[in-house]
Amino acid sequence: MKKTNLAIIGGGPAGLSAAICAASSGAKITLIDDSLELGGQLIKQTHKFFGSKKQFAGIRGIEIAKNLLQEIKKYKNIELIGNATVTGYYEDGILTIVQGSNGDIFIKLLPDRIIVATGASENMLTFVNNDLPGVYGAGAVQTLMNLYGVVPGNNVLMVGAGNIGLIVSYQLLQAGIKVEAIVEALPRIGGYLVHASKIRRLGVPIYTSHSLKEVYGNDGVEKAVISEINKDFEFIPGTEKELKVDTVCLAVGLSPLSDLLWQAGCQMKYIAELGGYVALRDDHMKSSLDNIYIAGDVAGIEEASSAMLEGKIAGLNAAVSLGYRVDNFLELNRNLRKELEELRANPLSEKVKIGLEKALLKREVDQ
Ligand SMILES: Cc1cc2nc3c(=O)[nH]c(=O)nc-3n(C[C@H](O)[C@H](O)[C@H](O)COP(=O)(O)OP(=O)(O)OC[C@H]3O[C@@H](n4cnc5c(N)ncnc54)[C@H](O)[C@@H]3O)c2cc1C
Repeated sequence: MKKTNLAIIGGGPAGLSAAICAASSGAKITLIDDSLELGGQLIKQTHKFFGSKKQFAGIRGIEIAKNLLQEIKKYKNIELIGNATVTGYYEDGILTIVQGSNGDIFIKLLPDRIIVATGASENMLTFVNNDLPGVYGAGAVQTLMNLYGVVPGNNVLMVGAGNIGLIVSYQLLQAGIKVEAIVEALPRIGGYLVHASKIRRLGVPIYTSHSLKEVYGNDGVEKAVISEINKDFEFIPGTEKELKVDTVCLAVGLSPLSDLLWQAGCQMKYIAELGGYVALRDDHMKSSLDNIYIAGDVAGIEEASSAMLEGKIAGLNAAVSLGYRVDNFLELNRNLRKELEELRANPLSEKVKIGLEKALLKREVDQ
């Protein structure tokens, strides 16, 4: 049985930032991530980030990951357990971890505090033949192309015109793949117009108020049928268009990966504005359980910039709750929360702010 002061589950921007902040207090940190490379979503992001300048806006995601990893390496009190999945949380406070490509290493870890920063999973869409080879999530397409240098196909239909759908479409075009069209169920484009304009200039049509009805093919996707939809999201007969594509890429939203928080018995709530079930939390990112903190997309689907700030807040507060000293703790805490507020002052964050209000546990005296 291994012991640690603080276990951080997930090595994306939230988990890495939490580890750096908490390690500065001297606490013993154990960071567990299931990938071969740390960085979470960042290591797939070849584009320059939007968001706050202070939180690396204008820098490519892969570069942000490198910066965070360099910081991590400075701390001898951070132990990394990579290629390892936290599979369970038990009543006695023990985390079970399965490590290695064959899952043949089993670790039991007893932490004093835990930060869950597991990120999100991609949403699926219901349509005829959605199990045919050639139907991918946008994250899978990014992993294939940007991590392994493999193109998913030759002709792609993108479903979803939020930032993820737009950015992945652009990356497909950069890789020399034809994007036949983007369909979006809402009557408007959800992502930044700067991304949409770039794609339109390259000749890709974006059909709003449209969805994917069915795909068909023998051994994989050969054709897709899209159709206009009404305000109740019902297909309008007679508006179908057939597209010759071998790949369908779904960018239809993310859901917080909250399984471990359910297992631990945190107070959970379905909050549509945050992407699904999330743990209630206070201003310090502490859940309803005193030993469990949350940060990043698992706390509500947002951005890497907010994930990093939430990670820092969770890391600081978890370390201090264990009795470790952080110079100027109160001021640091206040400044981080102010930065988060400024980041969310953007009109595009209105929905998230409504969700966060619903997720707040009002039990601590504001510091
Ligand atoms: C295409 C795309 C473009 C984006 N562009 C931007 C942008 O320009 N600007 C911006 O600010 N944001 C952007 N984002 C959003 C940003 O990437 C995410 O909000 C951010 O990565 C969330 O960070 P996180 O640390 O919460 O989760 P993640 O980055 O998802 O990291 C979570 C990590 O935890 C690991 N994990 C999960 N469960 C376990 C477990 N049980 N055991 C061990 N490890 C586990 C995962 O494998 C992963 O490595 C983009 C996202 C996408 C998909």
